[in-house]
Amino acid sequence: MKQIGPIKIIEGPNYSKVPYSRSLFIDGAEKVLIDTGADPSTLSNLEQKHSMNLIINTHYHPDHTCHNYLFPNTEKWINPIEFETVSSIESVAKENGIFQEWGKEGVDQWKKTIPDEWITSLLSINGTYEYDKQYNFGDVNMILLHTPGHTKGFACPYFPDLGVVYTGDYDMTAFGPWYNGTDGDIEDFVRSGQRLLNLDADVYITGHQKGVFTKTEFKSAMSDYLAIIDQRDDIISKHVQSGMDFEKLSSIGIFYPKKTLEHTLLRTWERSGIRKHLERLGYIVKGTEIKSYVRTK
Ligand SMILES: [Zn+2]
Repeated sequence: MKQIGPIKIIEGPNYSKVPYSRSLFIDGAEKVLIDTGADPSTLSNLEQKHSMNLIINTHYHPDHTCHNYLFPNTEKWINPIEFETVSSIESVAKENGIFQEWGKEGVDQWKKTIPDEWITSLLSINGTYEYDKQYNFGDVNMILLHTPGHTKGFACPYFPDLGVVYTGDYDMTAFGPWYNGTDGDIEDFVRSGQRLLNLDADVYITGHQKGVFTKTEFKSAMSDYLAIIDQRDDIISKHVQSGMDFEKLSSIGIFYPKKTLEHTLLRTWERSGIRKHLERLGYIVKGTEIKSYVRTK
């Protein structure tokens, strides 16, 4: 287990790849856990040994909240923007693009596939934190930075005295930035990425895969990572200019590998992600047709 001062990094299975993530355990005078996507048996052991005082959820996505249910008696906070979202599965379906792409029927289908534990995990969240306020957990100071883009309410826990930040889903993976829910936003994503680079921090901990970056490494990784947004723009615009319609464009695999698009949820996010690029490129989707909304003649 890696440790930076009182912060212990708790890994998820398989290098904390989705559907898991990395959790942070603040082992100070107060015991605080950030996100619960790490290995469930490790989390249970921690709880037995230390008994958490508080759980902080950076955002509502299942790969970061899935094991909240292992802490039935612990207070659980989420950001103020997403507190309402976690109060019902329908709201999650709306923020995730499921309602936008498939309507009520799609939402009903999706609901049948969700594990009960995750529903319990979401509904057990019972409080909110404030953005940009300094919290003191005994001997550890922490600020929850509002870093929207991945989701509207996404927060990055920052430890100013330690020069450490948990960047969560600003994860620097080869997949690239994920802003594919209806509550995701490309411009916000880029702005939040810049904000993270401007922090007075030397240690950047991501939520998935590689994990710990120095500032220099994170800066260089961020530049490649954000460049993927422009590459997606280029591919999409080339196809639209060649006359491709929306159904075809969303079946060739811009975000996800083509063969995985048979999974409804991935197809949902492929479609909603492409819509965001189309909008920023000046196009609008009408039925299956893609039209320019900037008059060219
Ligand atoms: Zn997420």
